[in-house]
Amino acid sequence: MAERCKETVWDGSTWRHRKCLHDATRDGYCGQHHPDAVKRRRGKAEARYQKESAVRAAKQKREDFDRRAGARCRELGIQPEDIR
Ligand SMILES: [Zn+2]
Repeated sequence: MAERCKETVWDGSTWRHRKCLHDATRDGYCGQHHPDAVKRRRGKAEARYQKESAVRAAKQKREDFDRRAGARCRELGIQPEDIR
C-alpha cells in the first residue's frame, strides 16, 4: 500500500482538520504539499501580491495628485472641471 501524504489539511465541508488523502510521492508528502511545492506557490502568491501593491500604490499616488491639484485649482479660482 502506498504511503499517504503526512500533511494535515483543513476540510472546509466538515470544519475539521484531516490528513491529506493524496499518496506521498516524495519525502512523505504528495506533490501538492511537499515543502518545495508549498514554497514555490507561496513565492508566486508573494510576487502577485507585490505587483498588486505596486499598482495600488501608483493609483493612490495619482488620486492624491488629482486631489491636491484640484484643491490648488480651487485656491486659484479655477474650477478643475473647466480644465477637462
Ligand atoms: Zn498532500
